[in-house]
Amino acid sequence: MTNSLVFVLNCGSSSLKFALVDSKTEQQILSGLADSLGSDSPFIKIKYNGNKETIKLSAGAMHQSAIDTLVAQLKEYGLDDRIVAVGHRVVHGGEKFKTSALINPEIIAEIEQVSQLAPLHNPANIVGINAAILAFPTLPQVAVFDTAYHQTIPAHAYLYALPYELYKKNGIRRYGFHGTSHFYISGQAAKMLNKPVNQTNIICAHLGNGASVTAIANGLSVDTSMGLTPLEGLVMGTRCGDLDPAINNYLIEQLNYDQSQVTELFNKKSGLLGISELSNDCRLIEEAAEEGHAGAQLALDIFCYRLAKYIASYTVPLGELDAVVFTGGIGENSDVIRAKVLSLLKIFGFTVDKQANLDARFGNAGFINGSTGPKAIVIPTDEELVIAQDAISLIATLEQ
Ligand code: ADP
Repeated sequence: MTNSLVFVLNCGSSSLKFALVDSKTEQQILSGLADSLGSDSPFIKIKYNGNKETIKLSAGAMHQSAIDTLVAQLKEYGLDDRIVAVGHRVVHGGEKFKTSALINPEIIAEIEQVSQLAPLHNPANIVGINAAILAFPTLPQVAVFDTAYHQTIPAHAYLYALPYELYKKNGIRRYGFHGTSHFYISGQAAKMLNKPVNQTNIICAHLGNGASVTAIANGLSVDTSMGLTPLEGLVMGTRCGDLDPAINNYLIEQLNYDQSQVTELFNKKSGLLGISELSNDCRLIEEAAEEGHAGAQLALDIFCYRLAKYIASYTVPLGELDAVVFTGGIGENSDVIRAKVLSLLKIFGFTVDKQANLDARFGNAGFINGSTGPKAIVIPTDEELVIAQDAISLIATLEQ
Protein backbone atom coordinates (compact mmCIF):
# COMPACT_ATOMS: atom_id res chain seq x y z
CA MET A 1 0.00 0.00 0.00
CA THR A 2 1.46 3.37 -0.95
CA ASN A 3 1.20 6.04 1.64
CA SER A 4 -0.99 8.93 0.62
CA LEU A 5 -2.40 10.37 3.82
CA VAL A 6 -2.20 14.09 4.50
CA PHE A 7 -2.84 15.42 7.98
CA VAL A 8 -4.79 18.65 7.47
CA LEU A 9 -4.84 21.25 10.23
CA ASN A 10 -6.95 24.39 10.58
CA CYS A 11 -6.01 26.30 13.72
CA GLY A 12 -8.16 28.98 15.32
CA SER A 13 -7.27 30.92 18.46
CA SER A 14 -8.88 28.39 20.80
CA SER A 15 -9.71 25.53 18.46
CA LEU A 16 -8.12 23.21 15.96
CA LYS A 17 -9.97 21.37 13.22
CA PHE A 18 -8.19 18.40 11.72
CA ALA A 19 -8.66 15.69 9.13
CA LEU A 20 -6.68 12.83 7.74
CA VAL A 21 -7.28 12.84 4.00
CA ASP A 22 -6.37 10.05 1.62
CA SER A 23 -5.29 12.03 -1.41
CA LYS A 24 -5.72 8.96 -3.66
CA THR A 25 -9.26 7.96 -2.76
CA GLU A 26 -10.17 11.59 -1.90
CA GLN A 27 -11.78 10.30 1.32
CA GLN A 28 -11.43 11.72 4.82
CA ILE A 29 -10.55 8.69 6.88
CA LEU A 30 -10.53 10.56 10.18
CA SER A 31 -11.67 14.01 11.25
CA GLY A 32 -12.33 16.03 14.35
CA LEU A 33 -11.94 19.11 16.42
CA ALA A 34 -9.93 20.18 19.45
CA ASP A 35 -11.91 22.88 21.20
CA SER A 36 -11.94 25.19 24.24
CA LEU A 37 -8.13 25.25 24.14
CA GLY A 38 -6.69 27.37 26.97
CA SER A 39 -9.88 26.95 29.03
CA ASP A 40 -10.51 24.82 32.13
CA SER A 41 -11.90 21.93 30.12
CA PRO A 42 -10.36 21.58 26.66
CA PHE A 43 -11.18 18.44 24.71
CA ILE A 44 -10.66 16.65 21.40
CA LYS A 45 -13.43 14.98 19.43
CA ILE A 46 -12.33 12.40 16.86
CA LYS A 47 -14.42 10.64 14.22
CA TYR A 48 -12.80 7.46 12.93
CA ASN A 49 -14.18 4.26 11.43
CA GLY A 50 -17.75 5.23 12.23
CA ASN A 51 -16.88 5.80 15.94
CA LYS A 52 -16.84 9.10 17.78
CA GLU A 53 -14.39 9.51 20.64
CA THR A 54 -13.90 12.41 23.05
CA ILE A 55 -10.58 12.87 24.80
CA LYS A 56 -10.32 15.34 27.68
CA LEU A 57 -7.17 17.45 27.77
CA SER A 58 -5.68 18.90 30.94
CA ALA A 59 -6.87 22.35 32.03
CA GLY A 60 -5.21 25.16 30.08
CA ALA A 61 -3.93 22.81 27.34
CA MET A 62 -3.16 24.63 24.08
CA HIS A 63 -2.45 23.66 20.46
CA GLN A 64 0.84 21.84 21.14
CA SER A 65 -0.69 19.59 23.72
CA ALA A 66 -3.74 18.95 21.49
CA ILE A 67 -1.49 18.00 18.56
CA ASP A 68 0.70 15.77 20.75
CA THR A 69 -2.38 13.98 22.06
CA LEU A 70 -3.68 13.59 18.52
CA VAL A 71 -0.39 12.13 17.32
CA ALA A 72 -0.46 9.58 20.15
CA GLN A 73 -4.00 8.69 19.12
CA LEU A 74 -3.01 8.31 15.46
CA LYS A 75 -0.24 5.93 16.59
CA GLU A 76 -2.81 3.90 18.49
CA TYR A 77 -4.93 3.66 15.32
CA GLY A 78 -1.81 2.63 13.36
CA LEU A 79 -2.17 5.60 11.03
CA ASP A 80 0.84 7.77 11.91
CA ASP A 81 3.27 5.87 9.65
CA ARG A 82 1.05 6.40 6.61
CA ILE A 83 1.10 10.19 6.81
CA VAL A 84 3.28 11.76 4.11
CA ALA A 85 2.67 15.47 4.71
CA VAL A 86 0.95 18.00 6.94
CA GLY A 87 -1.21 20.65 5.24
CA HIS A 88 -2.08 23.87 7.06
CA ARG A 89 -4.90 26.24 6.32
CA VAL A 90 -3.45 29.74 6.60
CA VAL A 91 -6.00 32.53 6.46
CA HIS A 92 -3.99 35.43 5.07
CA GLY A 93 -1.23 35.19 2.50
CA GLY A 94 -1.34 38.84 1.45
CA GLU A 95 -0.09 39.46 -2.10
CA LYS A 96 2.98 37.40 -1.34
CA PHE A 97 1.34 33.98 -1.71
CA LYS A 98 -0.42 33.34 -5.00
CA THR A 99 -0.17 29.56 -4.55
CA SER A 100 0.42 27.10 -1.72
CA ALA A 101 3.94 26.94 -0.26
CA LEU A 102 6.24 24.33 1.20
CA ILE A 103 6.97 25.56 4.72
CA ASN A 104 10.54 26.42 5.74
CA PRO A 105 11.87 29.11 8.12
CA GLU A 106 11.74 31.80 5.37
CA ILE A 107 8.11 30.98 4.55
CA ILE A 108 7.21 31.15 8.26
CA ALA A 109 8.88 34.57 8.46
CA GLU A 110 6.87 35.71 5.42
CA ILE A 111 3.62 34.43 6.91
CA GLU A 112 4.50 36.32 10.11
CA GLN A 113 5.05 39.44 8.01
CA VAL A 114 1.58 39.32 6.48
CA SER A 115 0.05 38.55 9.88
CA GLN A 116 -0.36 42.24 10.61
CA LEU A 117 -3.12 42.15 7.98
CA ALA A 118 -4.93 39.37 9.88
CA PRO A 119 -4.16 39.75 13.58
CA LEU A 120 -7.28 37.80 14.53
CA HIS A 121 -6.43 34.78 12.37
CA ASN A 122 -2.83 34.26 11.23
CA PRO A 123 -1.16 34.10 14.68
CA ALA A 124 -3.18 30.96 15.50
CA ASN A 125 -2.19 29.44 12.13
CA ILE A 126 1.49 30.03 12.94
CA VAL A 127 1.07 28.43 16.38
CA GLY A 128 -0.40 25.39 14.60
CA ILE A 129 2.46 25.24 12.10
CA ASN A 130 5.11 25.37 14.83
CA ALA A 131 3.31 22.75 16.91
CA ALA A 132 3.02 20.43 13.90
CA ILE A 133 6.70 20.85 13.04
CA LEU A 134 7.59 19.72 16.57
CA ALA A 135 5.17 16.80 16.37
CA PHE A 136 6.15 15.70 12.83
CA PRO A 137 9.76 16.89 12.44
CA THR A 138 10.52 14.71 9.43
CA LEU A 139 7.39 15.40 7.35
CA PRO A 140 7.01 18.14 4.74
CA GLN A 141 4.58 20.83 5.90
CA VAL A 142 2.57 22.86 3.41
CA ALA A 143 0.72 26.16 3.84
CA VAL A 144 -2.47 26.67 1.82
CA PHE A 145 -3.79 30.22 1.86
CA ASP A 146 -7.42 31.35 1.91
CA THR A 147 -6.41 34.40 -0.07
CA ALA A 148 -4.35 32.74 -2.84
CA TYR A 149 -7.20 31.87 -5.22
CA HIS A 150 -8.36 35.49 -5.22
CA GLN A 151 -5.05 36.85 -6.49
CA THR A 152 -6.52 36.92 -10.01
CA ILE A 153 -9.01 39.66 -9.03
CA PRO A 154 -8.27 42.79 -11.09
CA ALA A 155 -7.22 46.09 -9.49
CA HIS A 156 -10.52 47.84 -10.20
CA ALA A 157 -12.22 45.21 -8.04
CA TYR A 158 -9.65 44.83 -5.26
CA LEU A 159 -8.85 48.49 -4.60
CA TYR A 160 -10.73 50.59 -2.08
CA ALA A 161 -11.37 54.22 -3.02
CA LEU A 162 -8.74 55.35 -0.54
CA PRO A 163 -5.52 57.25 -1.30
CA TYR A 164 -3.53 54.91 -3.57
CA GLU A 165 -0.49 55.22 -1.34
CA LEU A 166 -2.23 53.20 1.38
CA TYR A 167 -2.27 50.29 -1.05
CA LYS A 168 1.26 50.81 -2.36
CA LYS A 169 2.92 51.33 1.02
CA ASN A 170 0.68 49.41 3.38
CA GLY A 171 -1.07 46.78 1.27
CA ILE A 172 -4.56 48.04 2.13
CA ARG A 173 -6.78 46.37 -0.47
CA ARG A 174 -9.40 43.66 -0.71
CA TYR A 175 -7.86 40.18 -0.53
CA GLY A 176 -10.83 37.83 -0.17
CA PHE A 177 -10.99 34.56 1.80
CA HIS A 178 -12.47 31.04 1.57
CA GLY A 179 -10.32 30.71 -1.57
CA THR A 180 -9.81 26.95 -1.23
CA SER A 181 -13.56 26.43 -1.06
CA HIS A 182 -14.38 28.72 -4.00
CA PHE A 183 -11.62 27.02 -6.05
CA TYR A 184 -12.93 23.54 -5.24
CA ILE A 185 -16.50 24.54 -6.07
CA SER A 186 -15.50 26.05 -9.40
CA GLY A 187 -14.00 22.69 -10.44
CA GLN A 188 -16.96 20.66 -9.20
CA ALA A 189 -19.49 23.03 -10.79
CA ALA A 190 -17.73 22.75 -14.15
CA LYS A 191 -17.97 18.94 -13.92
CA MET A 192 -21.69 19.11 -13.12
CA LEU A 193 -22.26 21.60 -15.94
CA ASN A 194 -20.25 19.41 -18.26
CA LYS A 195 -17.97 22.27 -19.32
CA PRO A 196 -14.21 22.84 -19.13
CA VAL A 197 -13.50 24.77 -15.93
CA ASN A 198 -11.68 27.49 -17.90
CA GLN A 199 -14.91 28.19 -19.78
CA THR A 200 -17.21 28.13 -16.76
CA ASN A 201 -18.71 31.26 -15.17
CA ILE A 202 -20.34 30.89 -11.78
CA ILE A 203 -21.25 32.89 -8.71
CA CYS A 204 -20.30 30.85 -5.67
CA ALA A 205 -21.91 31.57 -2.29
CA HIS A 206 -19.95 29.93 0.53
CA LEU A 207 -22.29 30.27 3.51
CA GLY A 208 -20.89 28.93 6.79
CA ASN A 209 -20.28 30.74 10.07
CA GLY A 210 -18.16 33.01 7.90
CA ALA A 211 -19.73 33.70 4.51
CA SER A 212 -18.51 35.07 1.20
CA VAL A 213 -19.61 35.23 -2.44
CA THR A 214 -17.18 35.02 -5.34
CA ALA A 215 -17.62 35.83 -9.01
CA ILE A 216 -15.70 33.19 -10.97
CA ALA A 217 -15.04 33.86 -14.66
CA ASN A 218 -13.48 31.08 -16.74
CA GLY A 219 -12.50 29.29 -13.53
CA LEU A 220 -10.77 32.33 -12.00
CA SER A 221 -11.85 34.55 -9.13
CA VAL A 222 -12.65 38.03 -10.47
CA ASP A 223 -14.41 39.55 -7.45
CA THR A 224 -15.28 38.49 -3.94
CA SER A 225 -17.20 39.91 -1.01
CA MET A 226 -14.63 39.70 1.79
CA GLY A 227 -11.98 42.41 1.93
CA LEU A 228 -8.80 43.30 3.76
CA THR A 229 -10.15 41.02 6.46
CA PRO A 230 -12.96 38.43 6.59
CA LEU A 231 -15.27 41.06 8.12
CA GLU A 232 -16.46 42.71 4.89
CA GLY A 233 -19.38 41.63 2.74
CA LEU A 234 -22.26 39.35 3.69
CA VAL A 235 -24.14 39.11 6.97
CA MET A 236 -22.46 36.21 8.84
CA GLY A 237 -23.07 34.22 12.03
CA THR A 238 -21.57 36.85 14.33
CA ARG A 239 -19.92 39.28 11.85
CA CYS A 240 -21.70 42.33 10.51
CA GLY A 241 -20.30 42.40 6.95
CA ASP A 242 -20.62 45.70 5.05
CA LEU A 243 -21.12 48.83 7.17
CA ASP A 244 -20.79 52.57 6.87
CA PRO A 245 -17.21 52.98 8.17
CA ALA A 246 -18.34 56.06 10.12
CA ILE A 247 -20.23 53.75 12.50
CA ASN A 248 -16.84 52.97 14.02
CA ASN A 249 -16.36 56.65 15.01
CA TYR A 250 -19.92 57.00 16.13
CA LEU A 251 -19.59 54.10 18.56
CA ILE A 252 -16.34 55.48 19.92
CA GLU A 253 -17.16 59.18 20.03
CA GLN A 254 -20.86 59.15 20.87
CA LEU A 255 -21.36 55.85 22.67
CA ASN A 256 -18.02 55.63 24.53
CA TYR A 257 -16.89 52.30 23.11
CA ASP A 258 -13.16 51.72 22.91
CA GLN A 259 -11.61 50.26 19.75
CA SER A 260 -11.33 46.73 21.10
CA GLN A 261 -15.02 46.76 22.06
CA VAL A 262 -15.93 47.89 18.55
CA THR A 263 -13.80 45.12 17.04
CA GLU A 264 -15.49 42.59 19.32
CA LEU A 265 -18.92 44.02 18.45
CA PHE A 266 -18.36 43.81 14.68
CA ASN A 267 -16.75 40.35 14.78
CA LYS A 268 -18.45 38.48 17.59
CA LYS A 269 -21.75 40.13 18.47
CA SER A 270 -23.25 41.15 15.14
CA GLY A 271 -24.63 39.29 12.13
CA LEU A 272 -27.38 36.70 12.65
CA LEU A 273 -26.67 36.73 16.40
CA GLY A 274 -26.83 40.49 16.76
CA ILE A 275 -30.01 40.98 14.73
CA SER A 276 -31.93 37.98 16.08
CA GLU A 277 -30.77 38.52 19.69
CA LEU A 278 -31.02 34.75 19.78
CA SER A 279 -28.21 32.79 18.16
CA ASN A 280 -25.59 32.71 15.43
CA ASP A 281 -26.72 29.20 14.50
CA CYS A 282 -28.76 29.36 11.32
CA ARG A 283 -30.61 26.14 12.13
CA LEU A 284 -31.93 27.58 15.42
CA ILE A 285 -32.81 30.85 13.71
CA GLU A 286 -34.82 29.07 11.04
CA GLU A 287 -36.68 27.07 13.69
CA ALA A 288 -37.39 30.21 15.74
CA ALA A 289 -38.55 32.14 12.65
CA GLU A 290 -40.88 29.28 11.83
CA GLU A 291 -42.36 29.61 15.34
CA GLY A 292 -42.91 33.34 14.82
CA HIS A 293 -39.79 34.87 16.47
CA ALA A 294 -39.67 38.33 14.86
CA GLY A 295 -35.92 38.88 15.44
CA ALA A 296 -35.07 35.53 13.87
CA GLN A 297 -37.23 36.34 10.83
CA LEU A 298 -35.58 39.75 10.49
CA ALA A 299 -32.11 38.18 10.71
CA LEU A 300 -33.01 35.74 7.89
CA ASP A 301 -34.51 38.54 5.79
CA ILE A 302 -31.41 40.74 6.12
CA PHE A 303 -29.09 37.76 5.48
CA CYS A 304 -30.92 36.80 2.28
CA TYR A 305 -31.38 40.36 1.03
CA ARG A 306 -27.67 41.18 1.35
CA LEU A 307 -26.71 37.89 -0.30
CA ALA A 308 -29.10 38.42 -3.21
CA LYS A 309 -27.75 41.95 -3.74
CA TYR A 310 -24.19 40.60 -3.92
CA ILE A 311 -25.16 37.84 -6.34
CA ALA A 312 -26.96 40.35 -8.56
CA SER A 313 -23.94 42.67 -8.55
CA TYR A 314 -21.60 39.85 -9.59
CA THR A 315 -23.36 39.52 -12.92
CA VAL A 316 -21.39 42.71 -13.75
CA PRO A 317 -17.90 41.13 -13.85
CA LEU A 318 -19.22 37.89 -15.39
CA GLY A 319 -21.34 39.04 -18.30
CA GLU A 320 -22.47 35.45 -18.80
CA LEU A 321 -23.61 33.20 -15.98
CA ASP A 322 -23.62 29.39 -16.05
CA ALA A 323 -24.92 28.92 -12.51
CA VAL A 324 -25.23 30.23 -8.97
CA VAL A 325 -23.75 27.71 -6.56
CA PHE A 326 -24.48 27.32 -2.85
CA THR A 327 -22.03 25.71 -0.42
CA GLY A 328 -20.89 25.81 3.24
CA GLY A 329 -23.04 24.62 6.18
CA ILE A 330 -25.92 26.98 5.36
CA GLY A 331 -25.61 26.80 1.56
CA GLU A 332 -25.49 22.98 1.65
CA ASN A 333 -28.40 22.52 4.04
CA SER A 334 -30.82 25.42 4.09
CA ASP A 335 -33.45 24.95 1.41
CA VAL A 336 -35.25 27.90 3.04
CA ILE A 337 -32.44 30.39 2.50
CA ARG A 338 -31.68 29.13 -1.02
CA ALA A 339 -35.33 29.44 -2.09
CA LYS A 340 -35.61 32.91 -0.60
CA VAL A 341 -32.40 34.20 -2.20
CA LEU A 342 -33.36 32.86 -5.61
CA SER A 343 -36.83 34.39 -5.33
CA LEU A 344 -35.20 37.77 -4.62
CA LEU A 345 -33.28 37.29 -7.88
CA LYS A 346 -36.40 36.78 -10.02
CA ILE A 347 -35.40 39.64 -12.32
CA PHE A 348 -32.84 37.16 -13.75
CA GLY A 349 -35.56 34.54 -14.21
CA PHE A 350 -34.46 32.12 -11.46
CA THR A 351 -37.01 29.49 -10.51
CA VAL A 352 -36.68 26.72 -7.92
CA ASP A 353 -37.63 23.05 -8.12
CA LYS A 354 -39.09 22.50 -4.65
CA GLN A 355 -38.35 18.79 -4.41
CA ALA A 356 -34.83 19.12 -5.85
CA ASN A 357 -34.16 21.90 -3.33
CA LEU A 358 -35.25 19.60 -0.48
CA ASP A 359 -33.23 16.68 -1.86
CA ALA A 360 -30.00 18.71 -2.11
CA ARG A 361 -29.24 18.73 1.61
CA PHE A 362 -27.10 16.90 4.14
CA GLY A 363 -24.21 16.22 1.81
CA ASN A 364 -26.17 15.71 -1.42
CA ALA A 365 -25.20 17.78 -4.44
CA GLY A 366 -27.71 18.70 -7.12
CA PHE A 367 -29.37 21.19 -9.43
CA ILE A 368 -32.20 23.00 -7.62
CA ASN A 369 -33.40 25.30 -10.42
CA GLY A 370 -36.77 24.86 -12.04
CA SER A 371 -37.27 24.14 -15.74
CA THR A 372 -36.93 27.81 -16.75
CA GLY A 373 -34.31 30.41 -15.92
CA PRO A 374 -30.62 30.17 -14.98
CA LYS A 375 -29.15 27.16 -13.19
CA ALA A 376 -28.70 26.95 -9.42
CA ILE A 377 -26.62 24.19 -7.86
CA VAL A 378 -25.84 22.91 -4.37
CA ILE A 379 -22.35 21.43 -3.93
CA PRO A 380 -20.82 20.31 -0.62
CA THR A 381 -17.40 21.90 -0.27
CA ASP A 382 -14.19 20.03 0.61
CA GLU A 383 -11.43 22.42 1.63
CA GLU A 384 -9.50 19.60 3.32
CA LEU A 385 -9.24 17.72 0.02
CA VAL A 386 -7.83 20.78 -1.76
CA ILE A 387 -5.27 21.24 1.02
CA ALA A 388 -4.30 17.55 0.82
CA GLN A 389 -4.00 17.63 -2.98
CA ASP A 390 -1.91 20.81 -2.89
CA ALA A 391 0.38 19.23 -0.30
CA ILE A 392 0.80 16.09 -2.42
CA SER A 393 1.58 18.05 -5.59
CA LEU A 394 4.11 20.24 -3.75
CA ILE A 395 5.95 17.28 -2.27
CA ALA A 396 5.99 15.66 -5.70
CA THR A 397 8.08 18.63 -6.88
CA LEU A 398 10.52 17.85 -4.04
CA GLU A 399 10.95 14.28 -5.25
CA GLN A 400 11.75 15.26 -8.85
P1 ADP B 1 -17.75 26.98 9.44
O1 ADP B 1 -17.69 28.28 8.73
O2 ADP B 1 -17.48 27.09 10.91
O3 ADP B 1 -17.00 25.86 8.75
P2 ADP B 1 -20.12 25.56 8.54
O4 ADP B 1 -19.79 25.61 7.09
O5 ADP B 1 -20.09 24.23 9.21
O6 ADP B 1 -19.31 26.59 9.40
O7 ADP B 1 -21.61 26.17 8.69
C1 ADP B 1 -22.19 26.36 9.93
C2 ADP B 1 -23.57 26.95 9.70
O8 ADP B 1 -24.35 26.04 8.93
C3 ADP B 1 -24.32 27.19 11.01
O9 ADP B 1 -24.98 28.46 10.98
C4 ADP B 1 -25.37 26.08 10.98
O10 ADP B 1 -26.53 26.43 11.68
C5 ADP B 1 -25.65 25.99 9.49
N1 ADP B 1 -26.36 24.76 9.19
C6 ADP B 1 -25.95 23.49 9.32
N2 ADP B 1 -26.96 22.63 9.03
C7 ADP B 1 -28.05 23.39 8.73
C8 ADP B 1 -29.41 23.11 8.36
N3 ADP B 1 -29.85 21.85 8.25
N4 ADP B 1 -30.23 24.15 8.11
C9 ADP B 1 -29.79 25.42 8.21
N5 ADP B 1 -28.53 25.75 8.57
C10 ADP B 1 -27.67 24.75 8.83
